[in-house]
Amino acid sequence: MAKLEFRYGAMNSGKSMMLLQVAHNYSEKNRNVILVKSEIDTKGNDYLISRIGPKRKVDIILKRDEPLLQKKYSKKIKNAECILVDEAQFLSSEQIEDLWQIAKVLDIPVICFGLKSDFLTNSFPGSKRLFELCDSFKELETICECGHKARFNARKIDGIFVDEGDQNVIDGADSHIEYVPLCGKCYLKHVKKMDEKKVLKRMEEDKVQMSLPII
Ligand SMILES: [Zn+2]
Repeated sequence: MAKLEFRYGAMNSGKSMMLLQVAHNYSEKNRNVILVKSEIDTKGNDYLISRIGPKRKVDIILKRDEPLLQKKYSKKIKNAECILVDEAQFLSSEQIEDLWQIAKVLDIPVICFGLKSDFLTNSFPGSKRLFELCDSFKELETICECGHKARFNARKIDGIFVDEGDQNVIDGADSHIEYVPLCGKCYLKHVKKMDEKKVLKRMEEDKVQMSLPII
């Protein structure tokens, strides 16, 4: 029985590079691999591009709530020996469920690459469903500015960290948006403006417990 796998990591953890490597390994053995992404990921248009050069054409660009299991894509899926998904966090829960059925019922391995959480540390719907359904997951490592392991992605607009905004905003060379991989401590420092002094001060505050009225 084929597996549904999730390989996640913060920005710059080499997800696209690893995906291209897996695709290359399959192609080298003349095995048919197809590449899927969501239309939300506008970067590269219909190509997956890695920072260090290689690129590959995307076979299926899914619209936001479009099922993967439909006639339009059936030939590509049936002929695939492996399905690779880039930026899988952008897929809907239902699209992840389609991938699960492809792996489990059609016996085609599916490997998803993506982010675990957004710039506010909340799950993406696609990643949440992947954690619930996948056979295995693996964290790809990247390093924070302080040298510790980065697990969060902070958003900067015009060089300033922000803590509000839409979940899905794509960065790019010509945009004002940039994402920075950070460890938990640096995330709290830069985005939430939380340092030791503030946390200790919070512990000194009296908290009034509001009790619900009994009806
Ligand atoms: Zn750090």
